[in-house]
Amino acid sequence: MDPAQLHNLISAAFKARDNAHAPYSKFRVGAALLSASGAHIAGCNVENASYGAGICAERTAIVKGVSEGERAYTAVVVVSDVPTPTISPCGICRQSLREFCPLDTPVYMVSATYPALAPADGPPPAFLVPDADGGRWPRATDASVIAVLTLEQLLPMSFGPDNLT
Ligand SMILES: [Zn+2]
Repeated sequence: MDPAQLHNLISAAFKARDNAHAPYSKFRVGAALLSASGAHIAGCNVENASYGAGICAERTAIVKGVSEGERAYTAVVVVSDVPTPTISPCGICRQSLREFCPLDTPVYMVSATYPALAPADGPPPAFLVPDADGGRWPRATDASVIAVLTLEQLLPMSFGPDNLT
């Protein structure tokens, strides 16, 4: 994935956030997954008057993708309205991601300031750069906008599909 592709994935997450149904928490979240086939699958949180029936953005994206036949994901973006890159997937979403993502999957947590810095229809921002070590994933040079951790860092010593084979 190059910086332009990551920019598009981040922009897809913000577009989904804008569709969030969050009348109770007022906490809008968007997520976007890069599938192994190259598709971008986005989701938002969808709350319900029966609170327990709500679903997070990350799991919305997962169930959308899986139901369309996308069963493997290689990058994750999470966005919200919080102007710092500090909103990470909740515990149950980390476990759901574990089912369909390798442990080295990067999870990009992006500040709500991003769209103003890098509009969706514009080029990728200068602070997204290719991995200097030749890795597969771009990194962000501005830590006030993007934080990235791997799924394994977010969910250490996890239980996953390989534990049942
Ligand atoms: Zn969640």
